[in-house]
Amino acid sequence: MPSSSNNFRVLVLGGTTEASALCRYLEQEPSISATLSLAGATKQPHLPTLSVRIGGFGGSDGLCAWLKTHGIKAIIDATHPFAATMSQHAATACATTQAPLLRLERSGWQEMPSDKWFHAANLTKAANLLANAPTWKTAPQRIFLTTGRKELAPFKIAPQHRYLIRSIDAPDPASLPPNATILLDRGPFDVQSEAKLMQDYDITLLVSKNSGGSATYPKLEAARLLHIPVLMVDRPVACSNIPIVETAQQAMAWLQAHQVASTRRKV
Ligand code: NAP
Repeated sequence: MPSSSNNFRVLVLGGTTEASALCRYLEQEPSISATLSLAGATKQPHLPTLSVRIGGFGGSDGLCAWLKTHGIKAIIDATHPFAATMSQHAATACATTQAPLLRLERSGWQEMPSDKWFHAANLTKAANLLANAPTWKTAPQRIFLTTGRKELAPFKIAPQHRYLIRSIDAPDPASLPPNATILLDRGPFDVQSEAKLMQDYDITLLVSKNSGGSATYPKLEAARLLHIPVLMVDRPVACSNIPIVETAQQAMAWLQAHQVASTRRKV
């Protein structure tokens, strides 16, 4: 249970820089009793001084029960743009409990005039394109694969290419496509170092999810500089009826408005 005696209780579904930024605002707002929830995917996450819980809820039913038990009055879904399951569970649980839900999500990257992007609707389709599209089927590429260490297995169906994979923790060897080179490294990476890496490995194609944000944008700037095409995995379709903001500040204002409304209902 949140430790504060204040009863405007909110849940922040986290795992992103936007969630961390919101937590920093909430640390300064003692009239809101916030709990940050993390999936537990990161080995050593930076934790706020707020109440924190780690691990899944057990689906939308589990989340629903958790919201009721903890008297949650509002939820901010600040999970990653590609964490579609958690977002769907939040929408379902909030529809059931009638707790207001806000999506905090950074905007996606946009293709610039000098970029050359190919699009795929999801990782499986991206891997399928690399395996079967006429452009790549018989033309082996040297690919900088930046989709994340847990999302490599689909690319095993395109073994004709060479892959450069960078990650903080080592990926599961069983998930790797053949001809994979692993670089263990932790960002941030600037445009110069990204360009040097792509030149050193003679990269001919960058594969990326459209995560958005500034932290991993330099790889796209480097690809632009070097005229390297990008296979961009587009974002999953968002729940259409959930309000969305892009900044932690906007999410904080939304919470404060709901706090005021909640106080008014009580008097
Ligand atoms: P996902 O596919 O949408 O979620 C899978 C399951 O993980 C959910 O059903 C839920 O389990 C649990 N879960 C996810 N986020 C949670 C949270 N904040 N608190 C508690 N449980 C959570 O999500 P994912 O893509 O595996 O991402 C996992 C986490 O990593 C997310 O919090 C996300 O913000 C972060 N992340 C994801 C990516 C990405 O590219 N997908 C990148 C950076 C960070 P139950 O059903 O048991 O509740």
